[in-house]
Amino acid sequence: MTKNKQYTIDDLVYKAGKYISDSDELKKIRTVYKYAEEKHEGQFRLSGGPYIYHPLSTAVILTSVYADCDTICAGLLHDVVEDCDVPLEELEENFGSSIANLVNGVTKISKINFKADNDALVEYYKKIIVGMSEDVRVIIIKLADRLHNMRTLWALPEEKQKSIAKETLEILAPIAHHLGIHKIKSELEDLSLRYLKPDVFYDIAQKLNNTKLERDQVVNDMLTSVSNLLKEHNIKHEIKGRSKSIYSIYRKLEKGRKFSDIYDLLALRILVDTEQECYSIIGIIHSKYKPIPKRFKDFIAMPKANGYQSLHTTVFGYDGYLFEIQIRTYAMDEVAENGVAAHWAYKEHKDLKNRGTNSTEAKLQFFRSIIELNEDKMSSEEFVNSVKNEVLNNNIYVFTPKGDIFELPLGATPVDFAYRIHTRVGETTTGAIVNNSIVPLDYELKNNDIVKIITNKNSIGPSKEWLNFVKSTQTRNKIKAFFTRNQREDYTEHGKDLLEKELRKQKYSFNEFLSDDNLKLIYEETKTNGLNDLYLNIGNGKFSPSFIINIIDKKDPTLEEIKFKNLPKHIDGDIIVEGIDKIKVNLANCCHPIPGDEIIGYISKGNGISVHRNNCHNLSYLDNRMVTVSWNPENSGNFLTTVFVYAKPNGNAMLDIMQKANNLNAGVEGIRTVSKGDTVTYELDLWVRNVEHLDNLIRELKNFDYIENVVRAMK
Ligand code: MN
Repeated sequence: MTKNKQYTIDDLVYKAGKYISDSDELKKIRTVYKYAEEKHEGQFRLSGGPYIYHPLSTAVILTSVYADCDTICAGLLHDVVEDCDVPLEELEENFGSSIANLVNGVTKISKINFKADNDALVEYYKKIIVGMSEDVRVIIIKLADRLHNMRTLWALPEEKQKSIAKETLEILAPIAHHLGIHKIKSELEDLSLRYLKPDVFYDIAQKLNNTKLERDQVVNDMLTSVSNLLKEHNIKHEIKGRSKSIYSIYRKLEKGRKFSDIYDLLALRILVDTEQECYSIIGIIHSKYKPIPKRFKDFIAMPKANGYQSLHTTVFGYDGYLFEIQIRTYAMDEVAENGVAAHWAYKEHKDLKNRGTNSTEAKLQFFRSIIELNEDKMSSEEFVNSVKNEVLNNNIYVFTPKGDIFELPLGATPVDFAYRIHTRVGETTTGAIVNNSIVPLDYELKNNDIVKIITNKNSIGPSKEWLNFVKSTQTRNKIKAFFTRNQREDYTEHGKDLLEKELRKQKYSFNEFLSDDNLKLIYEETKTNGLNDLYLNIGNGKFSPSFIINIIDKKDPTLEEIKFKNLPKHIDGDIIVEGIDKIKVNLANCCHPIPGDEIIGYISKGNGISVHRNNCHNLSYLDNRMVTVSWNPENSGNFLTTVFVYAKPNGNAMLDIMQKANNLNAGVEGIRTVSKGDTVTYELDLWVRNVEHLDNLIRELKNFDYIENVVRAMK
């Protein structure tokens, strides 16, 4: 098939150049191609050849629907984020935010698993795709991407062929139809049928072939006859025979029609300049050829939901054959073939002068107007309608990291999401990561968020506080149910038992051990809230009794480490975060922790975990967002920290400090005099390896008799 020809970048630019006149834009397409080619270097397609053939072919398909420069570029780049780990920021830097946004949109859609086993799900997926794509160009790129994948589907194993073909036929082809992109829709359908029902497909293809000669002859005669008729009436026109797609014939056969009876196997299309001429022609044709009742349709006065306009009629034509005739203007034909894509592109390339920065907005506007058009017109076209009502209003759709979709009420939180996955997940939730950032549990989820729930199977279960912010009634009921289960009481009692036993074993007096001072320490260390909470945490296994005893009497400081050994650990260079996979970590600027410092992680809004020293005063009011972190023993080397040096006025102070630091291999990043008077205060920014290293330096500095004190800074 010529469609499987391998294109080159020159082909692409040639095709784009037919309707894009700006030479800078054509140059940009070449630049983007080079970049994509480099990124895909070394990757190959199953169908053979370097991977870049795929994005290149996708881009060529996009030129067939007159996609604009940014869309073509995004087509070339559509797999680099997913397959080459190119960060979106890099695309944005190199090619601008418009292209980066398009690529981001396509990447997002591609992450979804569309495994539909019932009709409701199919509808739902269609909604998702449209709802997710704020820019219709994202969908068009996705369609082009899929079309090329369908053209090369033969390279995949049969089982995969079938599942991809099914998804294409059920979800993507209908979307192409809704957007009116007939050209792509029709090829997607034929290709899908070929892999889903090869017998049927080849049977129809063969019958078409067998009758082709005869049909061609009849069509040609009719064509000449109609054309002569229009010439007599001085109507300038173009007329062509057209073939029905195999899939559309299959649909009619499915409905019980016989192959020989299918009306519009023989079909003509007449193209003219004006709408007026369309109506004139219908009159002329009906006066010569007898029309079949109820087969005349005026889609000019009543356009289809996807914007399609045309006049349709079926007549007894030449030699008694039935002919379906379509009559439309050139502009209508463009829309019929390319749908929403044509609508903007057509205007654009007819009117290049007016083409400005607003063209994207115009496209969006058109897309929106399609949505609105649907609302009051076609009840059968409820699809776009329901997008508007359901997707955009009351519900949000969020994803698991694997791409599974969950529908939640507007305002839902990670806790709602966790319970939706499974009650057990909800009950063991300890945190949530949304789009790679840690968020508080009362975070309001947004459409398309990718949500990962952090669980701890030793968790004490839901918190009553969650009832204050969860959104779905279901979640609320499940949380309430948990508390009525008396589980907490059981655990609490059990925990008290365990602690008493262990204290007895280690020969402590129960009452002495639980003195107010000790309890204060224990509450602080375990972040528990009173005795019952402490017992509960022992009872459910979060803390062992000996761990609690160790807080007061540090005999075995490694016990907690042993406990956490089984949890997955994330190491972001220098810091190990317990129980979390992938998360950004940074060292806090206020207290500048260095290895050897006791540290704690604080979940910052949208910025990962910031690591503070345990005693950092900024932490006191933030404690419900703490996570356990520790230093990676194999850390990267030097850490920036700040100390204050208090000294009596001395001319050599700065020099002495710098020299001492230098002798001890501590790097001085900066030194400032922050106050003067009887005592001069210097603020010193230092690169040191760890606490020991810093302590050495501090000791040395204190040896100068004019230096009064050196302390770590905490802001
Ligand atoms: Mn692709």
